[in-house]
Amino acid sequence: MAEILDGKLTSQALKDQIAEEVKAFRAEGGKQPHLAAILVGEDGASQTYVNHKVKACDEVGFKSTLKRFPADISEEELLKVVEDINADDDIDGLIVQLPLPKHISVQKVTDRIVPEKDVDGFHPVNVGRMTKNLPSYISATPFGILKLIEHYNIDTFGKHCVVVGRSNIVGSPMSILMARNGKPGNATVTLCHRYTQGLEQYTRQADILIVAVGIPEFIKGDMVKEGAVVIDVGITRVEDASKKRGYVLKGDCEFSSCEEKASHITPVPGGVGPMTISSLLYNTLMSARNEVYQSDVLVK
Ligand code: NAD
Repeated sequence: MAEILDGKLTSQALKDQIAEEVKAFRAEGGKQPHLAAILVGEDGASQTYVNHKVKACDEVGFKSTLKRFPADISEEELLKVVEDINADDDIDGLIVQLPLPKHISVQKVTDRIVPEKDVDGFHPVNVGRMTKNLPSYISATPFGILKLIEHYNIDTFGKHCVVVGRSNIVGSPMSILMARNGKPGNATVTLCHRYTQGLEQYTRQADILIVAVGIPEFIKGDMVKEGAVVIDVGITRVEDASKKRGYVLKGDCEFSSCEEKASHITPVPGGVGPMTISSLLYNTLMSARNEVYQSDVLVK
């Protein structure tokens, strides 16, 4: 039976640490960290995620601002909102909740956020700096996974880490971070995606298997090596009429069969998800303390 990598508990420990650090920072005369979030449209899951983020800000003593817009806001108007927030000295971090309506370019909007406030770590400057192992805002989900691995003292040096999924926000940065000269890191990494042939031959070699594809229960126990660490990033709402809210949340790994093979496994929900939020808070605290860009031309 695998040990559960408990994202809820680990995230709470990180939030407690952040709350302590906020108190200490303010006692020294530092400002109250301030996170702004932009939400466009009425997507139910997006509203839930943003609400969790706002609530988490309260928990650790941050200020938060939620800016909501109707789905028909123009790209130009939204870019102007981003620019106004860029220029607002009180705001340390800005996130744009995805997805955006189809008529708005996600890339244009996220690239318009100044790198110093890009606490989601999506801006090419932050991605480039991460790749070069320079101080940067690391995309919150991969950052949260690193923190979970760290919390449970999982050895990554020289291990074979197989990442399934190569999105810009999870799979690709995860593969870079696990290969980087750092702790956690220094793994030998294989990155698999939709064109990978014979996926199971790779997943079965993984000492650490990280899955972010968005297909419920895609990875079965027979695709997992005995003793592997399984990190399931996927969260999909699957209709279930027997449930009050009409759906259940499913990960990308079939929990029952993977748990039998793994040494450690993340549950869904309660694994990677809560870590994502606390990592976003951590990035915002780093921004308030001006830690990432302090020695740069990009200082705010
Ligand atoms: P995405 O849709 O952007 O990318 C999916 C990736 O999976 C692609 O790179 C694709 O090549 C790969 N893929 C698709 N089919 C495949 C196949 N048959 N074999 C191998 N690879 C295949 O996904 P994303 O944004 O990275 O999200 C993935 C999942 O993670 C989703 O369920 C999403 O909701 C979840 N997610 C969770 C969190 C969190 O905080 N826990 C954060 C981000 C995303």
